[in-house]
Amino acid sequence: MGKVSDISAYYGMVIHRNFVPLFADDRYAQMFGYESAEQILALPSLLELIAEDDQQGAINAYESVISGKARPKIRVFENTKKNGEQFSVLTIDHVTEWQGQPALQITLVDFSQQIEAEKKLHASEQRYRLLLESSLQGIVVHRFFEPLYCNQAMANILGYDSPEAVLKLSSLLSLIPEENQQKAIQLHEQLIQGRVDTNSVVTENVRRDGTSAWIHISEAVVSWNGKPAVQSVMMDVTQQHQDQRRLEFQANHDSLTGLMNRRSMSKTLIEEYAVSKRSLQPLCCILLDIDNFKQINDQYGHSAGDEALRIFAIESLKVLRNGDYLSRWGGEEFLLLLPNTLQEQALIIANRVREHLASFKVEAEASVKFSATVSMGLAMLTVYDVSPEALVARADSALYLAKEKGKNRVELAPQVYEL
Ligand code: GH3
Ligand code: MG
Ligand code: MG
Repeated sequence: MGKVSDISAYYGMVIHRNFVPLFADDRYAQMFGYESAEQILALPSLLELIAEDDQQGAINAYESVISGKARPKIRVFENTKKNGEQFSVLTIDHVTEWQGQPALQITLVDFSQQIEAEKKLHASEQRYRLLLESSLQGIVVHRFFEPLYCNQAMANILGYDSPEAVLKLSSLLSLIPEENQQKAIQLHEQLIQGRVDTNSVVTENVRRDGTSAWIHISEAVVSWNGKPAVQSVMMDVTQQHQDQRRLEFQANHDSLTGLMNRRSMSKTLIEEYAVSKRSLQPLCCILLDIDNFKQINDQYGHSAGDEALRIFAIESLKVLRNGDYLSRWGGEEFLLLLPNTLQEQALIIANRVREHLASFKVEAEASVKFSATVSMGLAMLTVYDVSPEALVARADSALYLAKEKGKNRVELAPQVYEL
């Protein structure tokens, strides 16, 4: 047995001979806007119920069926009720016998509601399609990734010349990065089954020319030719994504040196402090301050000073390890954070940086070259440090010591910070 569908139609029946009504049921009468079968039976001819244009056809059909020349057929008529309202019927004829004589039995099925519903659906789908055409957002409609519709904006995003080129693809899955395909299939099923209404993500896609694009995709179920399909609306947000990344970068980095700024280092300090306290891994903090920097500015000019800061940042990073954090902590002061590093190792690293910086010259102008040195204060986190600030304060006091002892040197902080 196949699927049983409940269609909202109803039927009526009439028997006539030469259009003279012999029998009718009430439903037949009601279809035409009458109250009861008696009113139909009182009509001299059923032709009254048939539109003038259709009458001759109906007569011909009756004669050929009743004479056995033609087999009864299923026909569709547009009829008019007593009140002028139109309705659509499907008729099924049977030759029968009425009081010993052949007569024609006709069953009428009213399917106006279906037609109405379909018309409405068609109209709303038409409006929807117009909307898609004019959208500046890329839109593709698909069912199980078979493309049903694509607009020009979508073709552009996908790197195709025309929507037709996209529609030629047997499956849109090939446009989805392999690692995302399984997820896309799952989501599609959830949408089609109505378990999820909409979905929205920002994802990185590779364009056909190999460049990378950030795409905002939002998906929803729509009706396409009366059946559910998935509409994917895409917007290329590569520019916004890049802008946002740039803003984030700017918020966390120093514009002159490109190093982490104090704000971002403060966050990292808190995180690494917590990790170290929890896992008992050593953590070392080093404050670096350029020696006699005021003098450099005075002698070579402020922009030469800036250049020195930039070069110092670049050169320091060259001799640091992955996972070490270097930030510009203030004017000509840097904070270096070494996670999972013991004091002895940190001392070696500090001296490596110090020697490296002292070993080369900064080029201020074409002919002006100068070198500079740094002093450093090193503190390793101890159980007595109750906050990240306490650790930095000890490094600072070690830096002070380094300056006092003649600069261009690394000093270790006392284990406990004394006020
Ligand atoms: P010390 O060896 O004791 O550290 O002496 P110093 O001259 O380096 O120390 P001081 O703190 O007296 O001077 C720091 C100078 O750094 C003062 C300030 O004008 C300069 N400075 C701070 N930020 C910048 C900057 O962004 N660019 C330049 N060119 N100079 C800066
Ligand atoms: Mg200073
Ligand atoms: Mg200084």
